[in-house]
Amino acid sequence: MEQNDSKTEAIRERLLHLKAELQGRVSTIHAHARDPLEQDSAEQAAQLGQVAVVAALETEATQEIAGIEEALRRLDAGTYGICVTCDEPVGEARLNARPAATQCRECAELDARRHP
Ligand SMILES: [Zn+2]
Repeated sequence: MEQNDSKTEAIRERLLHLKAELQGRVSTIHAHARDPLEQDSAEQAAQLGQVAVVAALETEATQEIAGIEEALRRLDAGTYGICVTCDEPVGEARLNARPAATQCRECAELDARRHP
C-alpha cells in the first residue's frame, strides 16, 4: 500500500479539482437561473426554453459531483479503480478519461445495453 500513497493522493487531488470545477459550474447556472425574466412574451418563452436546458445541465453536473464523491469514498476505502460489478481493475486509461468510473468498460457497456 505504501508505494501507492502518492498515486492515491494524485487521484484525490484530481477528483477534488474536478468537483470544485463542477460546483463552480452549478453556481454559475444558479446565478443565471436567478436572472429576472423579460416582460416581452417572446423573450420570456425563449428564456423558459433556456431554463429547461439549464436545469438539465445542472442535473448532469450534480450527478457528476455525486459520482466524484462516491469515487472519493472508494478511494478512502481502498476500492477505487476496482469494477463494482466484476471486481476486476477498471483500467488506468478509462480512469484517466473518467476518474469517477465505477465499472470497467465491459461491464459499463453490458449495463448500457441492458438499460438503454
Ligand atoms: Zn467489470
